[in-house]
Amino acid sequence: RAKAEARGTARFFDAEMDEQLLRRHRMEAELRGAAQAGELHLHYQPLASTHAGEIVGFEALLRWRSPTFGDVPPAAFIPLAEESGAIVDIGEWVLREACREAASWVRPLKIAVNLSPLQFACGDLVDTVERVLAETGLEAHRLDLEITEGVLIKDADRALDVLTRLKGLGASIAMDDFGTGYSSLSYFRTFPFDKVKIDQSFIRDMATSPQAMAIVRAVIGLGKTLDMAVLAEGVETLGQMDMLQHEGCALMQGYAISRPAPIAAFDALLRAPTADPLDRRVAA
Ligand code: C2E
Ligand code: MG
Ligand code: MG
Ligand code: MG
Repeated sequence: RAKAEARGTARFFDAEMDEQLLRRHRMEAELRGAAQAGELHLHYQPLASTHAGEIVGFEALLRWRSPTFGDVPPAAFIPLAEESGAIVDIGEWVLREACREAASWVRPLKIAVNLSPLQFACGDLVDTVERVLAETGLEAHRLDLEITEGVLIKDADRALDVLTRLKGLGASIAMDDFGTGYSSLSYFRTFPFDKVKIDQSFIRDMATSPQAMAIVRAVIGLGKTLDMAVLAEGVETLGQMDMLQHEGCALMQGYAISRPAPIAAFDALLRAPTADPLDRRVAA
């Protein structure tokens, strides 16, 4: 009897696993045509100075509205797109869309775009970036390319070559989510980073964990010594803002400034030639 029940349970799990697998396959397949089908769009999140709360740029964050699966968060679909290889085309779509958008702004703010390790592995990333800059007319110095350690681990020699050539085009390179995974200080010895983004987990714990605080301070110090801009991710409270300003962290990003939103939400700021209400709201 117990055996029969156990077998029943096993069959139940099998069926559930099949269903999960099937869903995954369907998602992967739909994702491949998502850009073409107009299901992808970008949200933008401000990057601000801790000093005056002034907005200095935006990070483009990918969103997928699937007719089958609804709104799927990046954490759920980017790994799938990386597995299937679809991230290479999707990443190019993101880059073009973000550069085109930024080129239309009256104020020459920075635009940050996330790059996946697979885009580095595939031969023509530098050509792609060069072509997109030419096509959209965006000045290269306004483009920030964000990478995670995954890029550096896979093939360090190649990563160094590609990063150097991307910088040669005039773009800047940011180390994203620093402090998570197996982040190593030697990355800063080897690779030409212009900016380091402290992962949001450290900002969240800063007030309660002396360890987290010490790490935030250390990265800020490292940035000063190595001439890298330092940005704190996931800033959610005014207390965190004050702390970061006090510690000399120049840049921040997070819900305390603004959640990611369609670009229209920032229209007043971007189309107006001078400072405007949003600036004051952020500074207040
Ligand atoms: P990321 O590049 O580190 O982006 C920051 C993430 O933190 C975003 O999540 C943003 O919505 C979230 N965030 C910002 N401020 C706060 C805050 O104050 N509190 C909290 N709890 N979260 C905050 P999102 O948009 O869900 O994206 C997740 C990740 O997906 C990104 O992390 C990035 O690694 C990846 N991603 C997003 N768009 C792209 C893309 O176009 N290409 C690639 N390759 N990856 C992307
Ligand atoms: Mg990022
Ligand atoms: Mg990040
Ligand atoms: Mg992240």
